[in-house]
Amino acid sequence: MKVMKFGGTSVGKPERMQQVAKLIVQDEESKIVVLSALSGTTNALVEISNALSQGDKSGARQQIQALQDHYKIFYNQLLVAPPALEKATACINEHFEFLNIIVKISFSEALNKDILAQGELLSTKLFSIYLEEIGVDHLLIPALDFMTIDNYDEPQIGSIKVKLTQILQRNKGKKIFVTQGYISRNAKGEVDNLKRGGSDYSASLIAAAIQASVCEIWTDIDGMHNNDPRVVTKTVAIEQLSFDEAAELAYFGAKILHPASIWPAQFYKVPVKLLNTMQPTSKGTLITELAGSSGVKAVAAKDGITVIQIKSSRMLLAYGFLRKVFEVFEKYRTSIDMVTTSEVAVSVTIDNDVQLKEIIKELEPFGTIEIERNQAIVSIVGNEINETKNVLQHLFNSLTDIPVRMVNYGGSHHNISILIPKEYKTKTLQLLNKGLFGLE
Ligand code: ASP
Ligand code: MG
Repeated sequence: MKVMKFGGTSVGKPERMQQVAKLIVQDEESKIVVLSALSGTTNALVEISNALSQGDKSGARQQIQALQDHYKIFYNQLLVAPPALEKATACINEHFEFLNIIVKISFSEALNKDILAQGELLSTKLFSIYLEEIGVDHLLIPALDFMTIDNYDEPQIGSIKVKLTQILQRNKGKKIFVTQGYISRNAKGEVDNLKRGGSDYSASLIAAAIQASVCEIWTDIDGMHNNDPRVVTKTVAIEQLSFDEAAELAYFGAKILHPASIWPAQFYKVPVKLLNTMQPTSKGTLITELAGSSGVKAVAAKDGITVIQIKSSRMLLAYGFLRKVFEVFEKYRTSIDMVTTSEVAVSVTIDNDVQLKEIIKELEPFGTIEIERNQAIVSIVGNEINETKNVLQHLFNSLTDIPVRMVNYGGSHHNISILIPKEYKTKTLQLLNKGLFGLE
């Protein structure tokens, strides 16, 4: 059994959704098809939710109406048969009525999550109606029946596995299952989600839970590229990546994959394939335990990074200092990405500064604290990169005009990270494209 996940752009137009239906019947293997919301929907739902949280009910109503109009046009192009059209009308009316009822109730965080869940519920229901219309036997299984997260928003893989296996056992005759990405239930049993872009994560968790033969992630680009195609003109697709390399790239900014989506597949040894809905026969990227080759493969960048420097003469020759520093971050559940130390100071970076004030307050007794915001991490990834000849030379020769603030080298065999001010991000990616890959 395999998992096929289709992103927002792959289902965002009626003809694309029809193309997805063709792709899922191409082979005989049984499968779970995971869908995102139609492109633009989750953003629209976020706006509706924001309007409501600010008490702007009429604004919210207008946005709900606009979204409903969009869906009407969509399903009228997707479907032909009157019974299918009737079903779709009923489905759309039901979901939009729900949104309109929420407008009347006083806004809460739980309702916000209910609003955000509508996108995936709508896309999967419309897709299911379409499959029925064209005679593709399948079963729509609600993700809310098996996808759960705990108090810390961590997916409960054990319970997901048990619940999903039971559902599949009960429906042994079916070969195609369709379900929602992104949405889940939290520890309180409420509707919740796996954060923006979370459908990839859903797919990987499902693939791990059922020990799938492969987890296919279908998007609108032919796999992971060596650099960000939005900022450099020439990029090339990478044929093979190891889980470690892919995790590093996803975490440090490659937009094609949700940052957490690699670990479930890696842990349960399920190969991941990144494929292109628009060019189904192109190779894409295969992600397994094997890297395929060594040396520099790709660069990715992530901004919104804050550096915290703690300088203290008490650090000199002292042991236990780093532990105390790290404990503060642990207490505030803030993860550290980069670390560099000198004998009298340590600098760390974080990408989540929600608790920064509290963190600084607790760090202050340790020494002088300096904060720099608006930084970017550029990550250079490749199997055995540290052992690759002249890699640092090429790296720094390309970046002579870039004010590099931090360097992480040797933390693993497959990654070098540098920290730069955010405004140099595009330039850095462009310079590295030339310096490391010989691409202009
Ligand atoms: N629809 C959600 C989002 O736009 C989840 C996803 O597409 O992966 O973030
Ligand atoms: Mg995505």
